[in-house]
Amino acid sequence: MSETFKGSFTQQEPIPEEGIEAALAVLRHGRLHRYNVTEGEVSEASLLEQEFAAQIGAKYCLAVTSGGYALSTALRAVGVRPGERVLSNAFTLAPVPGAIAAIGAQPVFVGVTEDLTIDLDDLAAKAGQARVLLLSHMRGHICDMDRLMQICTAAGVTVIEDCAHTMGAAWNAVPSGRHGLVGCSSCQTYKHVNSGEGGLLVTDDEEVAARAVILSGSYMLYERHLAAPGPEVFERVKYDTPNISGRMDNLRAAILRPQLRALNAQVARWNERYAVLEAGLRNTPGLTVIDRPKAETPVGSSFQFLLLDWPEDKIGAVLRRCAVRGVELKWFGAAEPQGFTSRYDSWRYAPSAAMPKTDRILVGILDMRVPLTFSLEDCATIARIIRAEVSGVFQEHLP
Ligand SMILES: *Cc1c(COP(=O)(O)O)cnc(C)c1O
Repeated sequence: MSETFKGSFTQQEPIPEEGIEAALAVLRHGRLHRYNVTEGEVSEASLLEQEFAAQIGAKYCLAVTSGGYALSTALRAVGVRPGERVLSNAFTLAPVPGAIAAIGAQPVFVGVTEDLTIDLDDLAAKAGQARVLLLSHMRGHICDMDRLMQICTAAGVTVIEDCAHTMGAAWNAVPSGRHGLVGCSSCQTYKHVNSGEGGLLVTDDEEVAARAVILSGSYMLYERHLAAPGPEVFERVKYDTPNISGRMDNLRAAILRPQLRALNAQVARWNERYAVLEAGLRNTPGLTVIDRPKAETPVGSSFQFLLLDWPEDKIGAVLRRCAVRGVELKWFGAAEPQGFTSRYDSWRYAPSAAMPKTDRILVGILDMRVPLTFSLEDCATIARIIRAEVSGVFQEHLP
């Protein structure tokens, strides 16, 4: 009998006890709205912002309702107008082009390389087409950020980083989210901290920060923020910035604060699991492991590999055979969007020219989540199953 895996790819760890206690305190006093404070009280939401800003080394931080909301708020705050074109990754998830569409702007997709990062040659070629790049560090793979910033600076392109998969990661020791003008993270259940829903936006730009606070629905109570610029900056922007409510509440903030304090330890645990999967899958015939650059400090909260140039029916066979043995792989190349995977050509509201080099990569990307409820032994089991099934299909069907 071949071994099967019994774990769940979608089961997260419980909220830490400290977070549960803090949440209960908020529930007991009932002041869940971030601006509902008693005399002298500082809200959990404001404390969360202050702590995350310090942790990531940013001047300003704003907590909001979701990662997607943080992205569209960042786009608005840097001045993207309806109808404007915004550069973004062809390999990403639906909330990224969705954030561009949310403000009536149009994505211009940039290709992906075999390293699963944005194709910098394609970016250089397209940089003249837009004023803003919404850069998705998709699945935690960070491109050469030095070269990316050079290309964008030279072309006058403002960079907004989508760090939904890189909270806690870095490039050349600079935290992800601190290379561009704005960095956005998600606190949604499947990301690196879990408040169900939630997002964090960081920047050093005082006007962008002030606009973001007002956009999020501050009702002009911005003086209650601890990680926002001074009132004189708000004076400059408050009359022409609309209120598009998307505030973080104190309950979620209370749950998140202890999780942020534990983030580095969690990152180390993710990376141990990633290393076991990587070691187990290296040198599997027909399977390409993604080499991680030295300058990258990753967070291995998910794992990808390539079945490059495989016929689609054989990739389907690997997926089915792994699924039978309890290993849930996701396939970004499938013609129809399934679950969270989708291709740029399935976002029909954002038409794109064909990108054959990118299509070749997308068709071969297999992906899985690595929740921290998996033990190292679980990861070794999963790697053995994938290795056996990939080798099996490869040997049976390919010359
Ligand atoms: C999850 C995710 C987001 C946004 O997250 P939400 O909080 O669900 O809105 C943005 N980008 C990527 C790549 C994501 O996976």
